[in-house]
Amino acid sequence: KRLSLDEIRKEFLNFFEEKDHLVAPSFSLVPKGDKSLLLINAGMAPLKKYFTGAEEPPKRRMATCQKCVRTGDIDNVGKTARHATFFEMLGNFSFGDYFKKEAIKWAWEFMTERLEVSEDKLWVSVYEEDDEAYEIWKKEVGISEDRIVRLGKEDNFWELEVGPSGPCSELYIDRGEQYGCGSEDCKPGCDCDRYVEVWNLVFSQFDKDEKGNYNPLPNPNIDTGMGLERIAAVMQDAANIFEVEPIKTILTKVEEISGINYGKNDKDDMSIRVITDHTRAMTFMVSDGVIPSNEGRGYVLRRLIRRAARHGKLLGIEGNFLTQVVDVVINKWKETYPELKEREVQIKKVIQIEEEKFQETIDQGMNILEEYIKDIKDENKDTLSGEKAFKLYDTYGFPLDLTKEILFESGLKVDEDGFNKEMEEQRERARKARGDIGNEAWSSEGVLKLDENVKTDFDGYENFNLKTKV
Ligand code: ATP
Ligand code: MG
Ligand code: MG
Ligand code: MG
Repeated sequence: KRLSLDEIRKEFLNFFEEKDHLVAPSFSLVPKGDKSLLLINAGMAPLKKYFTGAEEPPKRRMATCQKCVRTGDIDNVGKTARHATFFEMLGNFSFGDYFKKEAIKWAWEFMTERLEVSEDKLWVSVYEEDDEAYEIWKKEVGISEDRIVRLGKEDNFWELEVGPSGPCSELYIDRGEQYGCGSEDCKPGCDCDRYVEVWNLVFSQFDKDEKGNYNPLPNPNIDTGMGLERIAAVMQDAANIFEVEPIKTILTKVEEISGINYGKNDKDDMSIRVITDHTRAMTFMVSDGVIPSNEGRGYVLRRLIRRAARHGKLLGIEGNFLTQVVDVVINKWKETYPELKEREVQIKKVIQIEEEKFQETIDQGMNILEEYIKDIKDENKDTLSGEKAFKLYDTYGFPLDLTKEILFESGLKVDEDGFNKEMEEQRERARKARGDIGNEAWSSEGVLKLDENVKTDFDGYENFNLKTKV
């Protein structure tokens, strides 16, 4: 069955609505009242308060399609076929209502009956100690045992820093040998793109506290997450998540701007995918009120914008181009996320200013970095000093991971400890110069303040031009 992103999203939410779930719109990417998280990275994250019992949910069964950002996956973007920094996560949730049996059976029903994924492509995993889940898959669902794999804590135990946690069970789709690594041990959980993890069912039975204790919850919960782009790639038989409609239209836009065709050379393809991904991430982040800065989520945004700009350079694009790509994102997702259209002007302005700012120094910075690289090689070394990396950061606006990425392309690395030391020293100098008014106020002229205070309903935007210096 060939289904678009929009159709799958709708099908999923309808399915769980029929199962008596309350369907809620996506929450903001900016967590509310949760200091442990920079950006929402899973469907359950904004619902934590219902899982812990801190607040009463509007209903014991809910379903959402949640905007997510995972910066931790940034190095995989463009490389694997399945990782993005921004993606949408479909999820159904039970707050002390139904548990493993229903969660497992409904997941199977949705996959095989609604999406009509053929059973012989499906595999499942359970946490190695979770016999209960194993038995449900085997007896209630009736999957043959050679399709059930037991995985360890790393893959099949879900936890954030603190909060609800527990064993998981995952659904994998076998995309066929052509996506595989060819290894004999290739099976679900392998790093390659053959067995794609599409859906994670989390049986959250514990509340993990700051000290790392797992306290059993009185009423265990269900929290599931399915990557919309991943399942769409399967449904559309697309080689990777960036070739899914309508994400592909972004990719096509980048082809058009750069004059480079996708699918001709790996290096260019990687840059095109990075730009496609990062543009989605930055557009959604700004629409939720994040503004580039030197700290926190503002810095995440800055890094994404600058990395995308640099990959534009690699493709030979001259000057600013990101807002043209942003346009495509807004137009393709505005029906599901009306905030994109409502804040279109601000989104483009924020991104344009940040891109322009980087354009002023990127060429100079690149020249200097190339000199450094030459010097390192001439001296038969392999590491850029922290001091030089800091100069690139401080004077030319090169985020550390950008410098790292460029060095990596030449087989070199950076002295990160040295960089951090320089950074700390600069903070110290700033603190002294100010007469010590605390760390809080340090970050770039109050930008952080606005960033931190931004509300999900966005009343902070009207006067952001006056308050921020990007
Ligand atoms: P993986 O092992 O592939 O990195 P994960 O186990 O980290 O995925 P979960 O935390 O279980 O992912 O999230 C639930 C679902 O969200 C995954 O099964 C997958 O479909 C989707 N997902 C997770 N990370 C990404 C990502 N970076 N890009 C797109 N989809 C993702
Ligand atoms: Mg992951
Ligand atoms: Mg996984
Ligand atoms: Mg998982």
